[in-house]
Amino acid sequence: MRYRRFYLLSSVIALTAIWAFHSKQSPDRKNEQPNILVVLCDDLGYNDVGFNGSKDIPTPALDKLAKNGTIFSSAYVAHPFCGPSRTSLMTGRYAHKIGAQFNLPPNSETIGEGVPLSETFISTVLQKSGYKTGIIGKWHLGAIQKYHPNNRGFDEFYGFLGGGHNYHPEQFKAAYKKQKEKGTEVIFEYLLPLEHNGKEVDETEYLTDAFSREAVRFINNTAQKKNPFFLYLSYNAPHTPLEGKKEDLEKFMHIKDEKRRNYAAMVYAVDRGVDQITKALEANGQLENTLIIFLSDNGGRTDAGANNFPLRESKGSTCEGGYRVPMFFHWPGKVPAGETFNFPVSTLDFYPTFAALAKANVPKGKLLDGKNIWEDFLHKTNSHENQNIYVLRHREGYTDVGIRNNEWKALKTNQNNWKLYNLNKDIGENQDLSHENPELLKSMVKEGEKWSRSHSQPRWFHDEQTGIEWLTAQMPHFDQTFRID
Ligand code: CA
Repeated sequence: MRYRRFYLLSSVIALTAIWAFHSKQSPDRKNEQPNILVVLCDDLGYNDVGFNGSKDIPTPALDKLAKNGTIFSSAYVAHPFCGPSRTSLMTGRYAHKIGAQFNLPPNSETIGEGVPLSETFISTVLQKSGYKTGIIGKWHLGAIQKYHPNNRGFDEFYGFLGGGHNYHPEQFKAAYKKQKEKGTEVIFEYLLPLEHNGKEVDETEYLTDAFSREAVRFINNTAQKKNPFFLYLSYNAPHTPLEGKKEDLEKFMHIKDEKRRNYAAMVYAVDRGVDQITKALEANGQLENTLIIFLSDNGGRTDAGANNFPLRESKGSTCEGGYRVPMFFHWPGKVPAGETFNFPVSTLDFYPTFAALAKANVPKGKLLDGKNIWEDFLHKTNSHENQNIYVLRHREGYTDVGIRNNEWKALKTNQNNWKLYNLNKDIGENQDLSHENPELLKSMVKEGEKWSRSHSQPRWFHDEQTGIEWLTAQMPHFDQTFRID
C-alpha cells in the first residue's frame, strides 16, 4: 500500500513536472501566434510586379517571396480607392455600412472626422491578444487625436496621417517652410513633416526608403521579444506624385514614357525595401514565423504610369482593374509554395483570418463582412462559394457596382444596363452574357440591392462639391442602381 502511494505520488510529481515544462513552453509563439506583416502598396497595378507578369519593372525580392508562397489571382479590396479600402482592411466591414464610403478630404483635421470609434480595428484585437503592433507609412483613416493610429490599436506609428505625401524630403521640407513663413494656415498634407507616435520628425531619406528603414527597425526591436508582432507597412508608393529616386530612375532610362519611368522607379524602391525587410526577418530568425501578405489598396492608375493588364479600367472603377489587386501570402511551411490560388478572396477576410491565426478574441457583437479563409485556402476550396463579393462606388448622381459570385461578375457602370461576364473565360470583361443568363443576373442584382439596404449615409465627402451633388441628386437612390431594364 505504502509502495502504491509512493508510486501515485511520484506520478503526480512527474505529471506536474511535465505540465510545468509545457506551461513554460506554451508562450513560445513559434507554435502559437505568428507574426503578421501586411505590406500594402498604394495604387499599384495588377501587372506592375514581376510575379504577376510585369516585363518592364523588375521586382526580384517580391518575386522570390511570391514564388516561395502562394499568389492570389482573384484578390479583391473592398473599394476601388484608398480611404474606404483601408477602412475595410482595418474594420473587416464594407466602408459603406459605417458611413466611410468616401475618402476623407485632404487635411481632414479641419472637419474632425475619421473612421467611427465604434468599429474596433484588427490592430486593437491583436494588441489585446499580446501582439506588438505597428503601422509605418500612410494612415488616411482620421487625422485628429482620437482617430490617431496610437489610439486605434497601434503601439508604434511612423509616417503621415493624410491621404498622400511627397517623396523627396529636401523638396517637401523646403515647400513646407516656405508656406509656414508665408503664414499659410492649412498647409497641404502632402508637405507636412512626418511623425513618430505623434511627435514631428525631421526625415531626411527618400520616403519609401525611410519607411523600409523604419520597418527594419520595428522588426529588429520586436523580433527578439516574447510577443509576436503585427506590422502594417503602408507604403504610399507608387501613388502620385510620381517622384522616383534619382538612382532608381537611372535604371529605367529605357522607358520612354516619363510617367511610367517614374512609376517603375517607385515600385523598384518598394522592392528594395521588401528585400531589406526579408533580410531583417531572416537575421532575427523570424522569417519562418511570419505570415507576409503583399498587396495593393486598389487598382493602378493607368493615367499615372500603372498597368492593370489583363484587367479592364483602373483605380476608381468597379471593373476588375479598379479593385482586383496583385497579392501573395508567404509563410514557410504553412503557406503552400509555388502555387496560385484562383478562388476569389477579399481583404474583408483579413480581420477574421488574422484573429483566428492569432487565437485572438474578436469583441462580442463585432460585425464582420468577411470570413476566416485559412482552412479553405489550405484545402484549395472556395470560401465564398455562391456568395457575392461586392464593390460599389458612388459617382456624381449615380452609382457603379460590381458583384462577383463564383466565376460570374455582374457589372453596372456609367448608368448603363447591367452586364454579366464569366471571369474564368473573360477576365477582361469584354463579352456581355446577360442575355444568355437573365435569371442569374437578376438574382445577383436582387441580392445586391438587399445588401445596399445595410448602407449608411456618408459621414463625409472628399470635397464640398461632392457633398452638395450628393444632396442635390438625392443620393444614393439605389432603386435606380439595382433596376434591370
Ligand atoms: Ca490607393
